[in-house]
Amino acid sequence: MNQETPKAVDGASGVAPRIIPREAHSISRGNISEGALKVLYRLKKAGYEAFLVGGSVRDLLLGREPKDFDVATDAEPEEVKTLFRNSRLIGRRFRLVHVRFGQEIVEVATFRAHHSQGDEGECVDGRIVRDNVYGTLDEDALRRDFTVNALYYNIRDFSVVDHTTGMEDLERGLLRFIGDAETRLREDPVRMLRVVRFAAKLGFRVDDEIERLMPRLGELLVDIPPARLFDEVLKLFHYGYALETFELLRHHDLYRRLFPASESMLAEEQEGFPRLLIAHALENTDQRVQEGKAVNPAFLFAAFLWEPMREAMKRLSHDLDEQEAMQEAADEVLAAQVGRVALPRRFSVMVREIWTLQLRLTRTTGKRPTLLLGHPRFRAAYDFLLIRARAGEPVAELAEWWTAFQESDPSAQAAMIDSAPKKKRRRRRRPRRPREAPAT
Ligand code: ATP
Ligand code: MG
Repeated sequence: MNQETPKAVDGASGVAPRIIPREAHSISRGNISEGALKVLYRLKKAGYEAFLVGGSVRDLLLGREPKDFDVATDAEPEEVKTLFRNSRLIGRRFRLVHVRFGQEIVEVATFRAHHSQGDEGECVDGRIVRDNVYGTLDEDALRRDFTVNALYYNIRDFSVVDHTTGMEDLERGLLRFIGDAETRLREDPVRMLRVVRFAAKLGFRVDDEIERLMPRLGELLVDIPPARLFDEVLKLFHYGYALETFELLRHHDLYRRLFPASESMLAEEQEGFPRLLIAHALENTDQRVQEGKAVNPAFLFAAFLWEPMREAMKRLSHDLDEQEAMQEAADEVLAAQVGRVALPRRFSVMVREIWTLQLRLTRTTGKRPTLLLGHPRFRAAYDFLLIRARAGEPVAELAEWWTAFQESDPSAQAAMIDSAPKKKRRRRRRPRRPREAPAT
């Protein structure tokens, strides 16, 4: 693993960038969105510099389809705004321009400098933010996180401009920071999650230095506001590489920083069940992303926290009936979780629904099954039942029944209700413990 790699530049450069001419790289304008091309050409025509930058350049060079296109320019935001009627200024601290073409939004940012000397920066939301001043292309390159994210495609001559070792690292499949890894991670600990996200998505090797630092610096994530972590968690799990991402988060000892209760169940891991349930939920999410279907964070949170919730439920069911115990267990587990990674209320409501529907799904008599089919969360709850069965919970027969029930016409459904599997009571219902007599 300890390959010699040339050092990535780490100061205000002054070093001439490597220019890769059009014929020596694989980016073709045919793969750039129409919107992005319009923005680039119009900026150029108005006399400004204009480059594609970041993920889009990286992905195009790798032969992947970019998720979106970001443009960097020496035009200031107000100047950009006047060039595009279909645009608006966003952001307070750094002002950006969003140019809209139908569904597509092209983000245009003015070159920024970040590393002004002697400026220690101020801590905002757990990351260090320095005064942002507009800068030059090379300054803009050096403030970016990874070398492979700091490549620029120049619309003037279609060359790629590399101020670090981006091209080389891209060819080797190596993820590393521009400059000193520890400094960059301390500046913004969320970059640890970005390491994982890109390593999973690109299948890149993580630089040895980062590998060493991550478990040690993981605790810095505790200072990141839960709302920001929620945004990052969505990016981690909703872009089609959820299962690899999960494995890598655990490998780098970061999963417990996000989902501590879930990690402690996984660490106990007696029969492999919690891991399997989570793995199936992640696969299910990846598959939906691939098929272009909507994904909902509630489903994943329900899976991550299912075991912790059941543990709490077991403890509480000494005094409460099944439903009450689940409600209280859900309160407990969700309250602890949102202190770490926020979960907007509409999603935590869904997590509860997915869980409580697991109880209702066991009742397959009378009108209940038909009514349940119309429940807005039926589909998610049924999918959840399927992954529980696949993970080895004793609900396979029930899951098959629901599959058949949905596929049947009404008369066949009526017949099925009689042949429904009897709900097996897992525990004898105990008489409630008599309350202790109040002290007199
Ligand atoms: P994706 O394809 O997943 O969107 P991306 O590389 O475009 O990947 P973004 O989060 O959209 O990632 O960020 C765009 C660019 O902005 C990055 O490529 C990087 O150059 C820069 N960037 C984003 N976040 C940070 C950060 N926390 N620190 C430094 N640079 C960053
Ligand atoms: Mg992007």
